Amino acid sequence: MADYQAPLRDMRFVLNEVFDAPSLWASLPKVAENVDPETADAILEEAGKICGGVLAPLNREGDEQGSSWNDGEVTAPEGFKEAYQTIVEGGWNGLGGNPEFGGMGMPKTLVAQFEEMMQGANMAFGLAPMLTAGACLAMDAHASQELKEKYLPNMYSGVWSGAMDLTEPHAGTDLGIIRTKAEPNGDGSFNVTGTKIFITWGEHDMAENIIHLVLAKLPDAPKGPKGISLFLVPKFLVNDDGSLGERNTLSCGSIEKKMGIKASATCVMNFDGAKGWLVGEENKGLAAMFTMMNYERLGVGIQGIGAAEASLQSAREYAMERIQSRAPTGAQQPEKAADPILVHPDVRRMLLTMKSYVEGGRAFSTYVAQWLDIAKYADDDERREHAEGMVALLTPVAKAFLTDRGLETCIAGQQVFGGHGFIREWGQEQLVRDCRITQIYEGTNGIQALDLMGRKVVASQGKLYELFAQDLAAFIEVNSGDEALRPFLEPLAAAFERLSDVTDFVINQAGDNPDVVGAASVDYLDLFGLTALGYMWAKIAKTAAPKAADDASGFYSGKVKTARFYFDRLLPKTVSLAEAIRSGSDSMMALTADEF
Ligand SMILES: Cc1cc2nc3c(=O)[nH]c(=O)nc-3n(C[C@H](O)[C@H](O)[C@H](O)COP(=O)(O)OP(=O)(O)OC[C@H]3O[C@@H](n4cnc5c(N)ncnc54)[C@H](O)[C@@H]3O)c2cc1C
Repeated sequence: MADYQAPLRDMRFVLNEVFDAPSLWASLPKVAENVDPETADAILEEAGKICGGVLAPLNREGDEQGSSWNDGEVTAPEGFKEAYQTIVEGGWNGLGGNPEFGGMGMPKTLVAQFEEMMQGANMAFGLAPMLTAGACLAMDAHASQELKEKYLPNMYSGVWSGAMDLTEPHAGTDLGIIRTKAEPNGDGSFNVTGTKIFITWGEHDMAENIIHLVLAKLPDAPKGPKGISLFLVPKFLVNDDGSLGERNTLSCGSIEKKMGIKASATCVMNFDGAKGWLVGEENKGLAAMFTMMNYERLGVGIQGIGAAEASLQSAREYAMERIQSRAPTGAQQPEKAADPILVHPDVRRMLLTMKSYVEGGRAFSTYVAQWLDIAKYADDDERREHAEGMVALLTPVAKAFLTDRGLETCIAGQQVFGGHGFIREWGQEQLVRDCRITQIYEGTNGIQALDLMGRKVVASQGKLYELFAQDLAAFIEVNSGDEALRPFLEPLAAAFERLSDVTDFVINQAGDNPDVVGAASVDYLDLFGLTALGYMWAKIAKTAAPKAADDASGFYSGKVKTARFYFDRLLPKTVSLAEAIRSGSDSMMALTADEF
């Protein structure tokens, strides 16, 4: 398998050329204080070295060894502790963190590139810094000043890691029915009791302390989601001077055996009156946790792109080296026994599909990150509110569409290898296994689709959709005079019209038939994602086309040609999706339980 190399050339293209991120950063004073184009470039370069040189080489061995559990202690695979130390020494955990507590204050547009490299190099490892950064974000937004001062500096540095404890054996999607309890001690602390399952890196030996953010219910809390509070529960209690005190009464009962991301420990966590502190307000824990989850959801989408990029790198190289059969148009390399498989249209279909989703997906995650930066840092209330609306609308699309396409890409990469893709040696089968979880955790993709269709589109009566629609319409309008862009803008405008039509269709039907939303949602998210990617590919083509003629490397001309493939071969899927959505919910709801 090709060694994973951070795709720095493409990341620089997306950041600097497609989105002109340096101008965005300069327009946000709090961001401009911390980053300029040179600093950003140096960060990308260094991140690329660490991800390619330190994390990627541990990926396969980590999968083979897995984390191990012994009497409550969890040991990460060989080399992970040292690699984690490298991440700590570089301050990478706090790259996007609040500088007041030791973070580096870098914009999400830049941090997203680092996250993609880390996940592409080693997804199981990457989950630890990702969860820590998410926990820090929730604490920074909701915890008291005292808790922030006590915990955030060591979490941003990575000396302490973070974990997110929501799921219980009987409660995954429906967190309203959790049973974990928190009893007040009368001194500002609480005793937390209950069992959480599937807690990623809930226990391990890489960090000195582990800070759990735990959802639990106070005595007499209202039933359902409105009775959930969020608590900070450390593995080791922390003394007033910041040193580590006694071990808290929480323990890891076991770790799961699982399909992929085997190096990461997936823990059963038992809390036996463990001491914890409230984060945010009583009974508002779900809202506080959503700060973390929204961050993680884009992060999980980025995991999809990271795995897909790794798969593409290796499949592209293989397709150029593996020789089988002759090209349909006649021998391309007559001196050899056969031609490289790259000559075959079907192999090209697979590689171009992969390239379309990876590079278009990278642009889309950067687009969403751009709105996250504006939402967090803009001085102007109106600009911030507008960006918050965009983030709310686009987060479920980023999570579900990028992970669905991520797995599709990894499977295509495996297919390019034929039988060798099924064999361990080439790495493709691990990517397929690792990537699969991204569709499931952080809210299944089905739940993301319901969030998009129900909570975001229908509940706002299309107002949030309008924000995206206006942005896309403005792009089409501004570029309508550009002849070179016509082959891209015309199909994009048609897909956009299709998406707007079915948006109206579902909003209109939802009042009369509550099943319509759930029946449409997954297809709707797909249609939305394909159209959004069309928008990204049109932006990419607009940026690359003027530079294509003078570029001997083929980078820019390759972009324009891939855009053509996307519009010819992938965007048309929106036609069948729109048709399926219009069929409503009848055929889905007609069967009785017996008829299944
Ligand atoms: C490897 C791994 C790591 C994880 N890491 C963490 C972690 O760090 N912290 C943490 O708290 N959790 C973690 N999880 C848990 C994960 O987030 C949940 O498994 C996931 O949210 C789904 O919950 P569930 O498994 O209980 O499935 P269920 O909620 O039982 O869902 C089963 C199926 O029903 C569907 N469904 C459920 N409700 C609805 C509905 N209302 N409408 C339509 N469809 C519905 C779901 O989409 C799904 O297809 C992890 C899980 C795994 C496997």
